[in-house]
This record gives sequence, C-alpha cells and structure tokens, in this order.
Amino acid sequence: MPSSDLAVFEQECRAFLQANAQPVAHRSAQWGVGDDALSGYAAIDPADDLARVQTAKRWKALEYDAGFGWLSGPASAGGGGLTAEHERLYLSMRAEYDLPSLGVFVISLGMVASSFQSFGSPEVQALVPQMHRGDLIGCQLFSEPGAGSDLAGLTTRAELDGDEWVITGQKVWTSVAHHSDWGLLLARSETTSSKHDGLTAFALDMSTPGVEVRPLEMMTRGREFNEVFFDQVRIPDSRRLGEAGKGWRTAIATLMNERALGAAGSDLFGVERTLERLRLTLQQPGMGADDPVIRQAFARAYSMAQTIRYQAMAADARREAGLPPGPAESVFKLANTNTLQEIVHLAGVIWGARAIADTGEWGAYSWADMILTMPGMRIAGGTDEVMRNILGERVLGLPKDPLPTGGTA
Ligand SMILES: Cc1cc2nc3c(=O)[nH]c(=O)nc-3n(C[C@H](O)[C@H](O)[C@H](O)COP(=O)(O)OP(=O)(O)OC[C@H]3O[C@@H](n4cnc5c(N)ncnc54)[C@H](O)[C@@H]3O)c2cc1C
Repeated sequence: MPSSDLAVFEQECRAFLQANAQPVAHRSAQWGVGDDALSGYAAIDPADDLARVQTAKRWKALEYDAGFGWLSGPASAGGGGLTAEHERLYLSMRAEYDLPSLGVFVISLGMVASSFQSFGSPEVQALVPQMHRGDLIGCQLFSEPGAGSDLAGLTTRAELDGDEWVITGQKVWTSVAHHSDWGLLLARSETTSSKHDGLTAFALDMSTPGVEVRPLEMMTRGREFNEVFFDQVRIPDSRRLGEAGKGWRTAIATLMNERALGAAGSDLFGVERTLERLRLTLQQPGMGADDPVIRQAFARAYSMAQTIRYQAMAADARREAGLPPGPAESVFKLANTNTLQEIVHLAGVIWGARAIADTGEWGAYSWADMILTMPGMRIAGGTDEVMRNILGERVLGLPKDPLPTGGTA
C-alpha cells in the first residue's frame, strides 16, 4: 500500500508512473502523424472499441494491484484508506503521462460503485473492489425517452413477485451499457400522487435474460451510449439499493456524486489535463503562443481551472468531514464543462480547419474528438440550464422557475 506520508507518497507515485508509462510530451508533435479516424468517446469499429476497453482494463488492474486504484476508498472495503489530497496528487501526476483512455470507468466508479457501496447489501458491496480494479464495469440506467431532466417522470416498471422484482420498460442514452457487467437501475415500483415517491433502485446484472442493449451511433460515428430494453427481467430483492419506494434518495445521491465528480480528486472531467495538452501544443513553433489574444484566453482558462481546483479542495474537505455532496456541487459540473468548452473553443480558434484533422498528433489526444464530444458533456448528468436552476433555487435562494402551465415546480 502507498505511504500516507505525502512526501514519500509522491515519490512512490512517481516511481510507479515512470515504471509503467511514458510522459505525455514523449510523442512527436507533427501534423499528419497518426490515424485520421475520429472516435469521440468510442472507436468507430466495435472491435477497436473493445480492444480499447481491454487496454483500459489492463491499466486499471495494474494501478489497483500497485495500490493506486482506489486511494481514498475505505481500507476495510479494499481501498487505500488515504485522503482526497493523496488522490488529487496522484491524479495530477498521472495527468502528465500518456495513458490509455480511462473514460469507460468514469460512470462506473464515480457514480455506480459509490451508490453500490452506500446503498447495497453485502452481496452488492462485494462488487465494488472489482469495479475499482476494472474487472467489472457499471452503467447508470436512469434516463428514458420521456424522462431526462425530469427524471422522476420515468415509467420503467418494477413489480414485486415473491422475493424477485420483475422489470419492464426502456432506458436511453446509457453510456457504456454495451461494455457493462452491472447497471444501477431506477424504476417505478408504485404509482403515487407525488412522482418522486414510489421509485426503487436496483443493482442489475446486465447478463440477466430479458436485458437487450442496442448501441446508438453518435455524430463521431462512435457508439458510446445505448438504448436498453427490459422484457420481464427478474432481479432478486437482495440487489435492491436502499428502501423500496425510496429510490429517489439513491438517485439524488448518485446524481450529487456525478455532479461532484469534478471535486473528487479534482480532475475527473479532465480540465487540467486538457489545458496541459493545449499548453504543450502552444509551445510548438508557429502555434500562436506569442499572440496576445491567445495568451489572454489561455490565462483565463488557466484561472478558471485553478478556481475549480481550490473549490474542489474545499469540497473534498467537506466530504472528509462527513458531509454528503449537496446542491452546491452542481457548480463543479457547470464550471468544469464550461471551462472545457472554452479550452476546446480556443483550440478551434488557433487551428481552424486543421483541428478537424488532428487525431492525436499532439500526444495521445485528439482535439477533433474533443470538439465533437464537448457539447454532449454539457447535457450528460444534467444540462447547463438544469444546473443553473439548482444553483439559483437551492443554493442562492432565488424564486422558483415558473411552469409553462402556471405556478412553480
Ligand atoms: C454524452 C451523454 C451521455 C449520457 N449518459 C447517460 C447515462 O449513462 N445514463 C443516463 O441515465 N443518462 C445519460 N445521459 C442522458 C442525460 O442525463 C440526459 O440527456 C439529460 O438529463 C437531459 O435530458 P433529455 O435529453 O431528456 O433532455 P430534456 O430534459 O428533454 O431537455 C431538453 C432541453 O430543455 C431544457 N430544460 C429541461 N428542463 C428544463 C427546466 N426545468 N428549466 C430550464 N430548461 C430546461 C434542457 O436544458 C435542454 O436544453 C447522457 C447524455 C449524454 C449527452
């Protein structure tokens, strides 16, 4: 296990990363080097996509076995028992290295594993270390064709039959469901006067008969998310997450974790990583580093990234003091994705049409992918508008949004 002494820990991180990865700047920086296929979150060819996931899993297992895979997790559950500060230090050092894309684990670890740990029976909790090692991947089965921002309006049914629940319905936009072993499912178990009541959450084994995953093609031509259909899918009651009919609590805790992702370890959205890539690229001759407008825009994005980092440290301290993430964490989702949007926009301004041809020449990173996938990040996990409503109403205490039908929600 890595040391809790921060100075020793830093040396251990460096030794592990140096032994197992190359620094980002290692690749040659030239236009025209590399594969010109765009992939976005996922490779276009399903076989390449699977190979990419296998590579990511190998890295995750290596990291976990060396003790760096779940640094701030409780030691009793297989984690490192260290603090968010250790996690943040390791992640910021890891950002300097050219690693496989670990995007396939973001939802699995940031949301699904956390809720399995908090709300699951011992049988479900036993999955969590395997998820942190990358052996198991989890997806979040919340959104439906008629329930996105208005999640509580979902209609997938869960009916109790003896000691099993029978699930019928459909989810949509489920990221990485096609690579997932487990799903965190939210379904309606009772019809009640308030739509926030009567929901129940479950851990679903994705290989259960009756689960059908249909990948959706994105504008990058990659397949990152899916439709998922449930036809009489049976789930043992022992895999219920939290109380029956109280699934909204599990859902809110999961969504708060999702929005706090930018806080935990500070850079899961990749703002600092992306900014570092841009800095390395700007250092190349003729890339505009001496242009005052570009310098000013870069400095602005850098200031935002630092602000997010310090806010994240405050949020980590609140978490370590035992406070659960609250509505204020929505600021991370908004600040991270808006800052990323600024960085990506700057890259587009600097390179113009050339950015479209960049598929990783500047170090394991494709600006074209980023430009195409960035808008989706401002929708996933709660849109900008919904985040602003939460911050306005629940943090700043502003009046509630009026409904088109009159009154307030
Ligand atoms: C890349 C990506 C990955 C995703 N992955 C997952 C996943 O893994 N699991 C999952 O369950 N879901 C996932 N989603 C779905 C995501 O959670 C929903 O798309 C999101 O919550 C918005 O819901 P919607 O698409 O139904 O849009 P709608 O809710 O229909 O919103 C449409 C528009 O109306 C605006 N709007 C809606 N309500 C309000 C309001 N009250 N006030 C102001 N404006 C409002 C929205 O901001 C938006 O601009 C993913 C989405 C994306 C883009």
